[in-house]
Amino acid sequence: QHTYLTYDEVIRHWAKHRPENIATEQDDRKLTYTDLLELTDRAVGYFQSAGVAKGDRIAWLGKNSDLYAILFAAAARMGVVMAPIGWRLAPPEIAYIVKDTGSKILFAGEEFAETARTVAYGIDPRPAVLSEGEAWKAVRTSDRAEFDAAGPDDGILQLYTSGTTGNPKGVVLTGRNLLGLRPFGIAEELPWAEYRPTDCVLVAMPIAHIGGTGLINISFASGVRALIQAEFTPEGVLDGIESGVTQMFIVPAALQMVIQHPKAATTDFSNLRYLMYGAAPIPLELLREAVKTMPTTGFLQAYGMTETTGTIASLPPDDHTLEGNKRMRSAGKAVPGTEIAILGPDGKEVPRGEIGEIAVRSPSNTSGYWKLPEATAATIDKDGWLHTGDAAYMDDDGYLYIQDRIKDMIISGGENVYPAEVESAIYGHPAIAEVAVIGIPSEKWGEEVKACVVAKPGMEVDPNDVIAWARERVAAFKAPKTVDVIPEMPRNPSGKILRRELRAPFWEGQERQVS
Ligand code: ATP
Ligand code: MG
Repeated sequence: QHTYLTYDEVIRHWAKHRPENIATEQDDRKLTYTDLLELTDRAVGYFQSAGVAKGDRIAWLGKNSDLYAILFAAAARMGVVMAPIGWRLAPPEIAYIVKDTGSKILFAGEEFAETARTVAYGIDPRPAVLSEGEAWKAVRTSDRAEFDAAGPDDGILQLYTSGTTGNPKGVVLTGRNLLGLRPFGIAEELPWAEYRPTDCVLVAMPIAHIGGTGLINISFASGVRALIQAEFTPEGVLDGIESGVTQMFIVPAALQMVIQHPKAATTDFSNLRYLMYGAAPIPLELLREAVKTMPTTGFLQAYGMTETTGTIASLPPDDHTLEGNKRMRSAGKAVPGTEIAILGPDGKEVPRGEIGEIAVRSPSNTSGYWKLPEATAATIDKDGWLHTGDAAYMDDDGYLYIQDRIKDMIISGGENVYPAEVESAIYGHPAIAEVAVIGIPSEKWGEEVKACVVAKPGMEVDPNDVIAWARERVAAFKAPKTVDVIPEMPRNPSGKILRRELRAPFWEGQERQVS
C-alpha cells in the first residue's frame, strides 16, 4: 500500500495503475483516471495562463459537478486552494464568502453565473467569473504546462463550516489533512475503510461541505468511481444504490427522506456495502428504521467536523444490531491515527463516563481558520489538541457518546440538559415529523426546556401529549415545559437544525449565558 500526501502523486498513481477505471460519473458522462490526469494537466495549464499560482484561491459556486471535481483535483496538484460555496446561501452570504477567500477566479454553475457576476462586481480586486460551459472550454483548450507540485502541507481546500452556531469560518485543509489518514493505512484495521477497484462512492451531499468534497477525496484517493449527483434527492440516492453504489455518506435528515420515500420499499439495497451517516445527532428510532430498511448494508456512524476533515470517530457495522445492543447511541471509537480526549473545564482529562468537551489530535486537523487568528488560537491549543465545542463522555471501551454542542446545552434549575437526548425521545411520537429542543429564559429555572415540533402531514399535535410522552422517556427536568408547533424546521444547507434561529425571538434583548 502507498501513502501519498499529495494530489499530484495520487492522480498520477491511478492514471498509471487504473487507467481505465472510472474516476467520475455524472448523468451520462464518465471520465476515467486517464481522463482525470489529462484534464487536470490542462486545467493546471489554464490556471497558470490566468495568473493563478500556488497559494492563490479560486472559488466554485454551484451544485455538485464532475467539472468541480476536476478543478479541485487540478488546483490540489499545484497548491491552489479551492473554495466551494454553498449555492443555497443567500447572495449576501455568498458575497461574504467569496470576498473572504480573496479568490482570483469564481467558477459558477450555469444557473448561478448571473449571481456570480453580480457578486464579483462588488469585490475589489474583482475575481474573473467563468460559467461552467466557459470553464469546460478553457480547460479543454489549454495546454499542459510545467508546474511545481504542492507539498503535503500546502493548503488545497478551503471549506466553510456549516454556520450552525454562528458565521461560517473558512477552514484550510492540506494534502496531509485530506490524504494522511484515509483510506490507505487504516484499511488493514477497519474493513469498511477498504475500497475495492470496482467500488462506487455516491457524492450526493453538497460539495461545499466535507460530506461532499470529502467523498470525492475518498474516491480519488482510493482510485474508485465517484458517482456525482448535482444535489441530494431521495429518488437519486435510491436509483444510485440500485445502479451500483457501494459506499455513501448522508446526513440524518436526508436518511430520513430516503427511507420514508415510497420507492424505498421496492429498492434493492444489496449493492450498498456501507452507509455512513453523521454530521448531526440521529434519533435512535430513525437509525433503527434505517437498519431495518437496509438489512444487508453495514451502517457506520461518523462523528467529525470540517476542522478535522470529517470523520474522527466511527461506530462500526457490528454495533448496529437491532437486538441486545447497548452501543447504538454511541458515535463509536477514534479512527486509527486519531487521539480523542474528553476534557473538563480546567482543560484536564475527565474520568471515563464523565461528560466533558471532546478534543482531538490528528493528522487531519486543520492548521487553522482562514484570516481568523483569534478563533484559531481559541480552538487549537499549543499541544495540537483541537477543541471541538461538543460535549460527550467516553466509556471504558473507548466508545464516545456525544451529548450535544456545548453552546446548545440548557441549564435548567442547575441541571444540564442536552437537547439531542430530548429530541431523540420526542422523535418517536407518532404525530411528530421533526423536533428541535431549545432553552428559553425562565425566572424560576434560569432556562427552561422548550420543544419546537413539526407535525406529520395531516396530523394534529397536542402539546400536553408531547410533554407527557417526553416525561415517560426522560427525567422530568429534561422534558419540555412548553411545546410550540411550527410549520417548518429552520435548517442550514447541511441539513442541520438552526436552534439559534428558534431561540432568537425568546432571547430578544437578553444575553444567553453559555458555559
Ligand atoms: P459552525 O461551526 O459554523 O457552527 P458546524 O459545526 O455545524 O457549523 P460542521 O463542521 O459541518 O459545521 O459540523 C461539525 C459539527 O457537527 C460537530 O462539531 C458536531 O456538533 C456535529 N456532528 C458531527 N457529527 C456528528 C454526530 N455523529 N453526532 C452528533 N453531532 C455530530
Ligand atoms: Mg463547528
